[in-house]
Amino acid sequence: MKIRAKLTFLYAVLTVTILLFFAAIVYYSASKSRESEFFTLLEREAVTKGNLYLNAQVETKTLQDIYNNNREMLNEVEVAIYNAQYELLYHDAVELDFVKETPQMLNSILEAGHLRFYQEDWQVVGLRYDHNGGTFLITAAAYDLYGYNKLDSLFKTILIVAGCSLLLIFFAGKYFSDQAFKPVRDMTAKMKLISATNLGLRINHPQKKDELSSLSETFDGMLDRLEKSFESQKQFVSFISHEIRTPLSAIIAELELSKEKNLDPVHFEEMVDRTLLDARRLVRLSNSLLDLAKASLDPSEITFKPIRVDELLMEVIQQLKHYEPGYQVTLAYQNEPEEENELMVSGNSYLLSVAFLNLMENGCKFSRDQKSQVGLIASNGQLTVTFSDKGIGIAPQDLKHIFQPFFRGTNSRKVDGNGIGLTLTKKIIELHKGSISVQSEVGKGTTFVFTLPHI
Ligand code: ADP
Repeated sequence: MKIRAKLTFLYAVLTVTILLFFAAIVYYSASKSRESEFFTLLEREAVTKGNLYLNAQVETKTLQDIYNNNREMLNEVEVAIYNAQYELLYHDAVELDFVKETPQMLNSILEAGHLRFYQEDWQVVGLRYDHNGGTFLITAAAYDLYGYNKLDSLFKTILIVAGCSLLLIFFAGKYFSDQAFKPVRDMTAKMKLISATNLGLRINHPQKKDELSSLSETFDGMLDRLEKSFESQKQFVSFISHEIRTPLSAIIAELELSKEKNLDPVHFEEMVDRTLLDARRLVRLSNSLLDLAKASLDPSEITFKPIRVDELLMEVIQQLKHYEPGYQVTLAYQNEPEEENELMVSGNSYLLSVAFLNLMENGCKFSRDQKSQVGLIASNGQLTVTFSDKGIGIAPQDLKHIFQPFFRGTNSRKVDGNGIGLTLTKKIIELHKGSISVQSEVGKGTTFVFTLPHI
């Protein structure tokens, strides 16, 4: 069942239940008040007849004539008067005698002094009437035709009003839930149009401060993020295919050349060197991509262990020396830590070494002197590592882009690279709950400041 139909149904059931409950109370109290009013009327009639008969000594025949005359027009009260010995003194209509008083009934009236009860639909009252030192018993009975007719018409009115209200409630509920869900239907229709080929579409729900606006804002925000990541995936794939295709085509061209029979040994060796260079570039690219994939993992899937950062930096420096003997990296403590603990961080040594290596390598490769200085500062619960060089620097307009995937600055035309290093470094630092910032001046040099919380 659709929520809209469910809401209409629930709304109708609830309102009708309340309405019927209310109507039942009205009907019940009307019927109770009719009953009590009619008993009171019977009692008054009984006392009046008792007075007429016993006090005013009106003749039996006269009283019976009045009764018979009234009966033709009204539903007249039938009154009977007994003495304390239960002998009948007066009866409005002996031939009808609806109540048929028994000695037990008269006895109960005598003892209680006052009695109210029903005989079939007729209401009956019994009274003890004291007059001139004598005790008399009077019964009065009648059918409240007028009262029952009024109740009947009240019941019919309630039925008609309840029926009309039910219809009104149902259609009003349907209309309002239709109106309330219209924005949801509009949103669903728009969502159906969104697919991988037109991720640029948005729901653009009118700006109101309601739940649906915030839902559509959230959804549009999610689409923004999806579109961005979709775009960067596309860029990523096209970049990788381009990066792979260039060295591969070069390798193919070199190998085809090598098939020429009359290639002299010097040219052949040069050709092999160039092929090797391209092959190494491919290996570097695939390693960087693999590292990027690892750094994009969920932190819960990466093992973190206590690491002494200065020791790891020394290892990385040795590693870099091994690959690029021309690069010179020096490590200096800018304030000697008092405790070993101040140099410890919780991290993944492989990923951290990749980040350190990138920053050292960049410092060297973007400097004519191929030197990079690493500084260590331990203070205020965190460890700061700086990577400085006196190289070519980064143009101010490039600074805000250098952490984007595949971005290569205007200064990198003649320098080998693929633009993944800093993206990877930033991801690794974020995984370690650290931060990175950069200061650079063209022609003077660059400093990357890397902070990590220590254990
Ligand atoms: P790559 O070094 O492969 O180009 P990176 O992601 O490591 O890619 O760096 C992105 C860009 O940032 C570089 O192309 C370069 O323009 C700039 N950059 C990074 N480090 C330095 C540095 N130490 N000196 C000058 N420019 C740098």
